[in-house]
Amino acid sequence: MPQRPKLVLVGQLSVYPWVFEAAERAGIDLILIPRGDDSAESAGRAKAVVEVLPLDIEENPEGALIALAERYRREPFGGIMAGNERVVPFVARAARELGLTGLTEEAAAVVRDKRSMRQHLREAGLGAPGFVAVEDPDGWTEALTLRFPVVVKPANGHSSLGVIRVDDKDSLEQAVARTWKLIETHHLGAADGSAPESGVLVEEYLDGPEVSAESLVRDGRVRVCGISWKGELAGPYFEETTLRAPAQLPAEILAAIEAEVIGAHHAFGVTEGTTHTEVRLVGGVRPVLLEMGARIGGGGFMHHLVHLSSGIDLAAEAMRIHLGQEPLCWSEEPEPVGHVAAYQVAVGSGGRMKRIRGLDAVRDDPRVDYVVEAVSPGTLLAPYPDHSGYPVMVISRHESDAEAEEYRAHLERTLHVEYEEQG
Ligand code: ADP
Ligand code: CA
Ligand code: CA
Ligand code: CA
Ligand code: CA
Repeated sequence: MPQRPKLVLVGQLSVYPWVFEAAERAGIDLILIPRGDDSAESAGRAKAVVEVLPLDIEENPEGALIALAERYRREPFGGIMAGNERVVPFVARAARELGLTGLTEEAAAVVRDKRSMRQHLREAGLGAPGFVAVEDPDGWTEALTLRFPVVVKPANGHSSLGVIRVDDKDSLEQAVARTWKLIETHHLGAADGSAPESGVLVEEYLDGPEVSAESLVRDGRVRVCGISWKGELAGPYFEETTLRAPAQLPAEILAAIEAEVIGAHHAFGVTEGTTHTEVRLVGGVRPVLLEMGARIGGGGFMHHLVHLSSGIDLAAEAMRIHLGQEPLCWSEEPEPVGHVAAYQVAVGSGGRMKRIRGLDAVRDDPRVDYVVEAVSPGTLLAPYPDHSGYPVMVISRHESDAEAEEYRAHLERTLHVEYEEQG
């Protein structure tokens, strides 16, 4: 019997099932390097995980690399893939040192830093808003030259943490200070070399609805596999609650989004793997990139949106690429299955979470494919612009986009985080 391929999956949280399920479907065995905050007992639970390899990538990347190379010499594996944003540079470096398929370290560094993404887009002649990189808390005055409203954000953040819309010049100093403080409390400028120097980016507000594009890229050839609708997010904070796929947009706008996303891969030098790209449609028509992540979006849930809406088994295809194989959709046209809605319950006021009200009915609904509770009761949830976790996500399948939207609106009305009484 031919040996089953083995892939090292780095930092994929085990409560998110999608990548683990895809590995099982594709017949790929996983060596999981758990994320530091993953629960020890759930890390090895997925069927596809044949080995758990705890390495301290955040605190000791050099030691982790030595241990990984040691493990490789004992018994080689076929590839390595990133399961979250922060480990992208580590995975690129490990792939290079072990001679496996992956991003160059240069490309990995570019997509970890919103300032360098902006710079590369601009140099490639692609759309980018005016921006100013603020290198220290007092440097905010330089951003007064931008056209307002602007958005203030960490240069290498995630989950809209510390992302603030500012409408007038008088409010800029305070917003920059607030974002800076969040960068410090969340240690976003990690000292381990996995993250770029921390800093604040101020950029002009892109007015228009938002979409997300999930792509596969192998040897520089890009396929945009799915485009999802995020809708109008006007701020001042940008809590993401909603996604629907496939986005209902005219063919020429879809084509323009694809062209912009493919161009961004080339501009960033992203040549292998899978990506999650966020795009604003300025005036409803002109795509401008917000950012790209060189990994599956949303802890893996973007996989399911693509899988149903396009038929492409995104996570399995991504793993194939990292194993040095050609994705199946390079030679076979997949069949779309249906429409998908993803809903993340809003954190709202924040507080100590008691439970999610309304979830029982959701679990029993035949349209619902997944209910994932990533935060346990008793956890202190911070309100935006801070972020400490998504309480629950629900993914459902529907016959039409209208039905998907109707169900999403129903969830918005019926699901709520219940907090413990204060005092
Ligand atoms: P993060 O890495 O935290 O997700 P993003 O740059 O993607 O950071 O910002 C989070 C959200 O904030 C985006 O999805 C978008 O809705 C909003 N946003 C960020 N920058 C802009 C901008 N220049 N114009 C309009 N909206 C923005
Ligand atoms: Ca197992
Ligand atoms: Ca984002
Ligand atoms: Ca991001
Ligand atoms: Ca996002």
